Amino acid sequence: MLDFSDLSVVDAHCHPYRRADNLSADEWVNAVSFGGGSPEYLQAGGIEVDAAAQAMLQRVKRDTLYFRYMLRRMAEFFQVEATVDAVVAARNRAIKDNGYGVYAQGLHQAGKIETLIVDDGHPLPQVDLRRFRAQVGVEVLPVFRIEALIQQLLDEDSAWPEFQRAYDEGIAMALSDGGYVGLKSIIAYRTGLDIDPRSRSADQGMVALEKIRRARGRSGDAIKNLRDHLFCRAIELCIDFDAPFQVHTGMGDWEVHLDACRPALLMELLRYPAYRACKFLLVHTGYPYHAEAGYIANALPNIWCDLSEGLPFAGNAGARIIAEVLEMAPLSRVCYGSDTYGSPEPFYTSALLGKQALAQAMQQLINDGFMSEAQAREAAKMILSDNARELYDAS
Ligand SMILES: [Zn+2]
Repeated sequence: MLDFSDLSVVDAHCHPYRRADNLSADEWVNAVSFGGGSPEYLQAGGIEVDAAAQAMLQRVKRDTLYFRYMLRRMAEFFQVEATVDAVVAARNRAIKDNGYGVYAQGLHQAGKIETLIVDDGHPLPQVDLRRFRAQVGVEVLPVFRIEALIQQLLDEDSAWPEFQRAYDEGIAMALSDGGYVGLKSIIAYRTGLDIDPRSRSADQGMVALEKIRRARGRSGDAIKNLRDHLFCRAIELCIDFDAPFQVHTGMGDWEVHLDACRPALLMELLRYPAYRACKFLLVHTGYPYHAEAGYIANALPNIWCDLSEGLPFAGNAGARIIAEVLEMAPLSRVCYGSDTYGSPEPFYTSALLGKQALAQAMQQLINDGFMSEAQAREAAKMILSDNARELYDAS
């Protein structure tokens, strides 16, 4: 069996987290789990969050394969029993004994994680990146989420000339003095990926903003027209600054439009002549529509896919996802990513799972005569770190 555990990792898409020294079992589960709702989610539906509802929320989080895997790897790390109580007690004790920074750095080092490309649009309020850097002790390169800027400008009630100038300046500042290495969009959560590439036309933004201001509301065609226009403008700025554009595709939390997040919806935009110079990263490789993303990364030259979210949150699907993405995507266009957040533990266990899934997928390719063992190792190295380094020009 191949073993890639010694290879270093660049996490092409993840989120910064806040220091939390002493967590209860339930708090830790909430911090490191994917999905399954929250008390706020139930309350917004008029459901009373009593003890039974709390227990139900905890249960669905703890019953995912992702969670079971993470818990077992952490139990091995601490050499304790694979129960939530034992792992959380060991975690809290390690932080108390050695300090939070030593603990977090130890986990990142154990996973051989060298660089985190972080989207600081989540969580909100934003995590202080200087403090986060000092805590984790690895290279942290942030990407700038355009929707945060758009929301701020919508709230400011400015007219179009001012809006347009502030948008351009905000992005230019982020990509120059701000230290951001790329842009990120979650338009799949807002108005969907069916973006008309001609939305850049001179008047579309102005007319849409005018309508929104007059209607004092942000729904309907006007907000879509405005978001599409601003998305296209962001592409132009990425080209100007030679910065990659991360676009959320595929699954996310419960708010995502699961029918408007397919990578295929982006095809018209991605191949539009004016945007061909932009480097796009299809975040989450569009999982569960990852074969579409893999095809696009093959058919068009400037498209990268990151494996985050399917890896680690789809549990044992990692090797299958990698194999299916690589059916079409070139080896040089696929990057490891985790989309993890909340606490250092899932960053570490996701790196382990990523290496394990890669080893399984590559072993199958060797068995089937597609590559030698040396080539499989080289491909794993590309996917785990080299491709992201090349994309973000980070050496
Ligand atoms: Zn994310």
